[in-house]
Amino acid sequence: RAKAKGEGSIEIFDPSMNAKALARFQMEGELRRALERGEFVLHYQPVVGLDTGRIEGFEALVRWIHPERGMVPPLEFISLAEETGLIVPLGTWVLEEACRQAGAWSRAFPADPPRLMNVNISARQFQHKDLIETVLDALRAARMDPGTLKLEITESIMMRDPLASLEAMKTFKSHNIHLVIDDFGTGYSSLSYLKRFPVDTLKVDKSFVDGLGKDPESTAIVAAIISLARSLGMRVTAEGIETMDQMVHLQKLACDQGQGYHFSRPLSREKAEELLGQDPRW
Ligand code: C2E
Ligand code: MG
Ligand code: MG
Ligand code: MG
Repeated sequence: RAKAKGEGSIEIFDPSMNAKALARFQMEGELRRALERGEFVLHYQPVVGLDTGRIEGFEALVRWIHPERGMVPPLEFISLAEETGLIVPLGTWVLEEACRQAGAWSRAFPADPPRLMNVNISARQFQHKDLIETVLDALRAARMDPGTLKLEITESIMMRDPLASLEAMKTFKSHNIHLVIDDFGTGYSSLSYLKRFPVDTLKVDKSFVDGLGKDPESTAIVAAIISLARSLGMRVTAEGIETMDQMVHLQKLACDQGQGYHFSRPLSREKAEELLGQDPRW
């Protein structure tokens, strides 16, 4: 039987639909309901200044608190949300919540310079014509300084349509919003484009940080990314730092910031507030 589409319509399973498609179909329905019921939460991972050892910001990372399955990590639902378009309303919620939290923390735990909040933006969200309005609305509603928001996009998102990306990025920059290239080194961005994009920060992918000091190739790649960023006037954050050794190595390479289990796992709002109250030095 054919599937009917549209609001309030009934979808009828084709008996030949395989188990995988069925699971995906059920998951899509669950995701939709999860949005309506508010089953998503944000966790926050500290971004640490490698020279000062202090918290310079957080990355907001979404989690789904499933009524039966418990906490579901984003890798299990982001791509489906992306394929189905649900990422747009979900991403709007993430932006609103992250900005609301950042605004509240900037007042409850003031810091000089102010701490930044990083938010991940998916491909479909980045291409959506309303993204800039969504971001500006979230900032206004949260009374958050646009200069303390960082949007993370990947190289592959940027390179899908480089000219449109450049325009979108210029618009964000005109509002003083920072831009980060996430998972840098795993995509295929052309270096000639890179210098034209108004990017503030390169985030070195965990896969290279893993091999730091152990595998000469990863070590060389991390050093190369840091010197590339330097010569383009960009800052560098290393993600997935798990050991003291990796941290020391990155400090020697004059990497600006680090993120990873060595400092802290992503934390619930309450745990993040405890940490902010302690103002730790690593
Ligand atoms: P990402 O943006 O590269 O985020 C970093 C991921 O690495 C997070 O996984 C974080 O928990 C994990 N991580 C951080 N430090 C360490 C470490 O030292 N060791 C290890 N093994 N892992 C570490 P998470 O939270 O599961 O998120 C996975 C990916 O899902 C993110 O990768 C991002 O691409 C996506 N994602 C998460 N939240 C959102 C969101 O709100 N919107 C969108 N569009 N994507 C999101
Ligand atoms: Mg990220
Ligand atoms: Mg990343
Ligand atoms: Mg990554």
